[in-house]
Amino acid sequence: MNFLEFLRTTIAKKELPSYVYSYPSKRAYRTFPRPLSITDIVEQAGRSKQINIYIHIPFCRYRCTYCTLFLATRQKPETRDSYVVRLVEHIARYGEYFGDREVVSIYFGGGTPTLLTQHHFGKLFAALDAAFPKRNRNCEITVESAPDTFDNNLLDFLKALGVNRMSVGIQSMVPGELAHTGRPYSVETAEASIKALMERFSHVNLDLIYGLRGQTRDSWIFSLGRALDYEPQTLSLYPAVVRPMTNIMISKALNPELFFSEAEKYEVYDQNVALMASKDYRQESFTRFTKIAGERAYRQEASDFEGTPLLGLGVGARSYFGQYHYGASYTVDWSAALPIINAFSARPFDPDAIASHGIKLTPEDLVRRYVLLSLTLSALSRKNYSSLFGRELAADFSEELKALERLQLVDLADGDTYQLTHAGFKYSSIIARMFYSGTMVALEEQYQAA
Ligand code: SF4
Repeated sequence: MNFLEFLRTTIAKKELPSYVYSYPSKRAYRTFPRPLSITDIVEQAGRSKQINIYIHIPFCRYRCTYCTLFLATRQKPETRDSYVVRLVEHIARYGEYFGDREVVSIYFGGGTPTLLTQHHFGKLFAALDAAFPKRNRNCEITVESAPDTFDNNLLDFLKALGVNRMSVGIQSMVPGELAHTGRPYSVETAEASIKALMERFSHVNLDLIYGLRGQTRDSWIFSLGRALDYEPQTLSLYPAVVRPMTNIMISKALNPELFFSEAEKYEVYDQNVALMASKDYRQESFTRFTKIAGERAYRQEASDFEGTPLLGLGVGARSYFGQYHYGASYTVDWSAALPIINAFSARPFDPDAIASHGIKLTPEDLVRRYVLLSLTLSALSRKNYSSLFGRELAADFSEELKALERLQLVDLADGDTYQLTHAGFKYSSIIARMFYSGTMVALEEQYQAA
């Protein structure tokens, strides 16, 4: 099947594939023949003078019914203490190798980072300041959160430390829907959390989900409208994804009529795009809408696919250093997570064995990664492509680009830059699949079959 046929037939099916936000996904990772050493990583870090840092905090109060992230829900305070102690050691040790680079972004992701205390954050920021003293003057420092896990004191403390972007999972403003996500707090708590964040931070991102159990078109618009009332700088609107080993999967198998079909999710998406445009939000990806002017609303993401290394710290973090992508082996098994976290905390930093699970990308896959992520998350410039790879974009991806133009899924601005149209954003996960190499397709399929 050629690319045009692929796009036409896949779009006609009205199926919504998983959102592609990275290439390759963790499903393509395997155990390395030998563990990576710090020397392997330093060699791959390239000549870039910058670095991004991601810190994974794998703790939550509860597991949401749709969530497949690596985390533990029943941990003692000492578990978090010893995890932070190990993170502090890792920050210091990695600083010996990369501390001369300018830090473009720091992201505390989870899990729920705001389950950490002021004491924990104080230690982590002191370690970062000492080990990575050079900060870009626009350094983006983000902390993810859940509404029932912070108070004003913690927010004031984070702000004083330099945090300038907060992200909070709201998901729904309807009590019954919220309860079905597995979140045990009230809508009032969610609203109070938004207010507290908006009063303090100049960039707040709210996550909402459409396609939850029992949700209707009206109740979704109600939730979105309530969130918009707060005028957050960014809104991330995710279609619910039903993955294996989640409670939402069981729930959908028992009561499929309580969930949007894939076709309905596309209709809701169209409605969202129109509503967000009417409120002067700029669409930045399939899920993200922002009022941040003149720059990306999520700089770590943009800086990553432009080629700046991403140093992931913590048990479930992913790292990207040139050809090497690596991270902990994956589990959503509740009982397996805590022993893995404890093992991470117990094991001192070992420069000869920093990762055992990941992938070494071929030069061809690095090119595909750049094209796929530039196109679906930002813009794809012919000139930039030529200067990065010494080749012509139109020659390397001629059939793919022609198919996209034919179906009006991209615009070509100034004869140089491809950008997705509204329809292109809508089908960006399908478009992304066109740029997968045969190797990546096979690795992901093998993982799914296992
Ligand atoms: S709070 Fe976030 S990370 Fe934790 S289980 Fe829920 S969705 Fe997953």
